[in-house]
Amino acid sequence: MRYDLVVKWIDKISSCFFDLIYPPCCFVCQRRIPLADKIPLCLECRSTVEQYSTALCLKCGSVLRQDGEKNKPCDFCRNRILYFDQAFSVCEYSGIIKDAVHLFKYQRRLKFSKFFVELMHQFIRVHLNKNEIELVMAVPLHITKLRQRGFNQSEIIARILSEQLNLKYSGHNLCRKKRTKSQVDLARAERLKNVSGAFTLRDPDQTRQKSVLLIDDIFTTGATLNECAYVLKRDGLASKVTVLTIAR
Ligand SMILES: [Zn+2]
Ligand SMILES: [Zn+2]
Repeated sequence: MRYDLVVKWIDKISSCFFDLIYPPCCFVCQRRIPLADKIPLCLECRSTVEQYSTALCLKCGSVLRQDGEKNKPCDFCRNRILYFDQAFSVCEYSGIIKDAVHLFKYQRRLKFSKFFVELMHQFIRVHLNKNEIELVMAVPLHITKLRQRGFNQSEIIARILSEQLNLKYSGHNLCRKKRTKSQVDLARAERLKNVSGAFTLRDPDQTRQKSVLLIDDIFTTGATLNECAYVLKRDGLASKVTVLTIAR
């Protein structure tokens, strides 16, 4: 049996027991949550999460300081070669979203995945043309990191999202062949160097002439996402790469 499947089952069983002993509460306001509602964030607190609505760069999705910047490369895009066609983030990486991502990623609160998928799904309905997407992929973790964490947060989200959108999900094609340092403490130039050559495609034919939706949790400098997009476009000959993250 595959390692990730075993981890998934252990998680499922232990969380059922845990829910019975400690009924789930909203992690923000501590209000009780009905057992049927799998997201540890109550509806009221969920409704306070704001999605980006200000003017965003059409290429990288960053917030524009002035509306006049709309048709020009923004500060982020200027002097960068970006291989993805467009990048979107649903929310700002702060407040409830930041806390929820941390709980999800570092404390294995996997039920948050449903909340993130819900946000992304709403966002796609408003901002993207679902019919244009042919394949959903996630930014992969290196196998060593995957074993340490037990799951890939982006993969979980991408898989559930693809099911909801009724789109094909490709989980094992894009892979991280180089174990990279955490990008968190690196400067931009170091980040680029760190991820350069880190990814590869096992089956480049799968993405040929396909419009790919690439999922990750956070957009920081975009270096990792850009490197993935580069591989998808160069080796996989993807026709389009659209990036979607929970936050930036
Ligand atoms: Zn609440
Ligand atoms: Zn931009």
